[in-house]
Amino acid sequence: MGNIVAIVGRPNVGKSTLFNRLTQSRQAIVNEEAGTTRDRQYGKVEWTGKEFSLIDTGGWVINSDDVFEEEINKQVKIALEEADVILFVVDVLNGITDLDNEVAAILRRHKKPVIVVANKADNFDLHPAAAEFYSFGLGDPFCISAINGSCSGDLLDKIVATLPEDKPEELEEELPRIAIIGRPNAGKSSLINAFIGEDRHIVTDIAGTTRDSIYTKYNKFGLNFYLVDTAGIRKKGKVNEDLEYYSVIRSIRAIENSDVCVLMLDATRGIESQDLNIFSLVQKNKKGLVVCVNKWDLVEDKSQKVIETFTNAIRERLAPFTDFPILFISALTKQRILKVLETAQVVFENRQRRIPTAKLNEIMLPIIENYPPPAWKGKYIKIKYITQLPAGQVPSFVFFCNLPQWIKDPYKRFLENKIRENWEFTGTPINIFIREK
Ligand code: GDP
Ligand code: GDP
Repeated sequence: MGNIVAIVGRPNVGKSTLFNRLTQSRQAIVNEEAGTTRDRQYGKVEWTGKEFSLIDTGGWVINSDDVFEEEINKQVKIALEEADVILFVVDVLNGITDLDNEVAAILRRHKKPVIVVANKADNFDLHPAAAEFYSFGLGDPFCISAINGSCSGDLLDKIVATLPEDKPEELEEELPRIAIIGRPNAGKSSLINAFIGEDRHIVTDIAGTTRDSIYTKYNKFGLNFYLVDTAGIRKKGKVNEDLEYYSVIRSIRAIENSDVCVLMLDATRGIESQDLNIFSLVQKNKKGLVVCVNKWDLVEDKSQKVIETFTNAIRERLAPFTDFPILFISALTKQRILKVLETAQVVFENRQRRIPTAKLNEIMLPIIENYPPPAWKGKYIKIKYITQLPAGQVPSFVFFCNLPQWIKDPYKRFLENKIRENWEFTGTPINIFIREK
């Protein structure tokens, strides 16, 4: 179950440095070079066997001296609403500012677990200075140096100890858990309403704490499925809805708890960065994907050519993962909404597909023989045997070979494509592992 930890604090206290430190995110650095800040906002952390998602609110706040107080207050409120643990970052070198006090005042009014992180404590001489942060009334300040990493392991211990206990819900394993995601106004609530209809055919709320349940079981058009966090999506407007941060943090929980994500795009707007951010969350979590181009009723020219243009544009923007279904729908007129559920069901089945080992080797070995991995320093690289790992979250294939380290990404992509050509894995990511034999 997804636990969310949010980093809050005024600009320049070291939030993004801390984010990178805790996620150890090579990826974030790579992406920053490529000129995108996407990965600064969201990362996964695993520590002593526990996993949580880390969110840096700084990714959404403009860093400048011209501080957007109001903006920061909003971020803090959203973190309070949505996160399980909040890291309130302050700066021992600068001490307390008015803005810190304001943030602390908001945090104090809630019961959400808060860890006061006294950052920039680069050496132990600086630790005593953190004593002033007791005045927030939010418990012991926790000294660390995000820049040199000192005490960051202890902070991770503390975070993990503060996370709520996982209480798994009892679900019928064979039913898909579907999350409807997308940026505000894409039409998520409309689609959900179209599914539910006026008669509200809700079969069951999951036993137990109905109010907190993130899954609701539906039976519609003869299909059984769970909708993830429907209430969360339908609950509108507590905080500013159009804030990207809000839709992302909401999406994270829904995506993490799903098997298949239905990504809603607005046909009248095309793909925007916010859509890409949400898509990248689906990818990071390796979930199944169905893309729905919604509001198709508003598009006048529905010719094959326009459909192709849309389709190509979407696949281009979402590359390298391109093997997913794209549907053109209208939540308003209910055009093709049954198709959405049927397609989500197919993607769910594709995720569970198991290829018998004999068949896998029979088909793949000749392909590999015809187009072997490039030799390395005259050494012949030979793939001897292939197997699919037993059912897990994501279909995973292991290729056993003599020199695994010399099989590079392009060849892995070739293997993945060949698997997709020969078997039906549309809509689901697959893992390609190369191991030594
Ligand atoms: P944000 O605006 O809160 O995300 O802050 P940044 O992570 O961008 O950091 C702001 C500045 O503080 C940068 O110049 C960082 O290099 C510096 N900084 C961050 N963490 C530390 C730390 O632990 N020690 C010191 N001395 N500087 C830090
Ligand atoms: P959400 O924020 O993603 O839940 O989006 P909503 O479901 O609230 O929809 C936002 C707006 O778009 C509302 O005014 C809807 O009536 C409208 N809308 C949603 N789906 C469609 C559609 O398929 N066609 C048209 N014309 N409007 C739609």
